Amino acid sequence: MIKKSAKLTTAIAIVLSVQGCARLGESWSYSGKSGPDYWGELTPSFSTCKTGSNQSPIDITRAIEGNLPALKIAYKVGGEKVINNGHTIGVNYEKGSTITVGDRTFELKQFHFHAPSENTIEGKPFPMEAHFVHADKRGNLAVVAVMYNEGMFNAELEKVWAQMPEQANTKVTLKQPVNADKLIPANHDYYRFNGSLTTPPCSEGVNWFVVKAYDTASKEQIAKFSRAIGHDNNRPVQPVNGRVIVK
Ligand SMILES: [Zn+2]
Repeated sequence: MIKKSAKLTTAIAIVLSVQGCARLGESWSYSGKSGPDYWGELTPSFSTCKTGSNQSPIDITRAIEGNLPALKIAYKVGGEKVINNGHTIGVNYEKGSTITVGDRTFELKQFHFHAPSENTIEGKPFPMEAHFVHADKRGNLAVVAVMYNEGMFNAELEKVWAQMPEQANTKVTLKQPVNADKLIPANHDYYRFNGSLTTPPCSEGVNWFVVKAYDTASKEQIAKFSRAIGHDNNRPVQPVNGRVIVK
């Protein structure tokens, strides 16, 4: 049995469901004195945002060729509630949907969105990025990230978007449960690197899988998300430092 640090345990509790509201004394934002430049100073439990050396997001560049195992996605139809927590719009997922990479399996807990994208590819940001957050039985985290370009209307996304709560701290039950699998491009080739949560407490040790192929959403769909959140919700890219990005 591996004993996890208290910090990681807290981080896991926070990210494993899209929660309705921040805990007292831990409020943060995307601008001003509670914005990304200050996260590490807001409370001691957020210090990794400032002191960490494997922070996310990053600009994905100079990736090296590796013999990466296939990213196998086995999701069920499982999203039932859409939540606006003021920082993002997300969907908590029922048990039983997994990804397998090599000999490691992680269960899907929730997915949520950022606009514009957090990670960039060769310096290029995308209009929107989805994060599918997973955990294994020991609490190790894995995020599958998917970039969205402006283009074709996205019908699966619309199952969530049609009922997107425009008020912060609101939860709505979906009329039609969403299939997260349909929000990920069929070609699962990916960039692999180590990183962190992109929101406080910025905990490290997160396995990132950024899918190379991108999906699309219409201009109106992307605008609707930005309107509901009311501001950009992307943390700026962080130094790569000694990390290796494998493709
Ligand atoms: Zn995210």
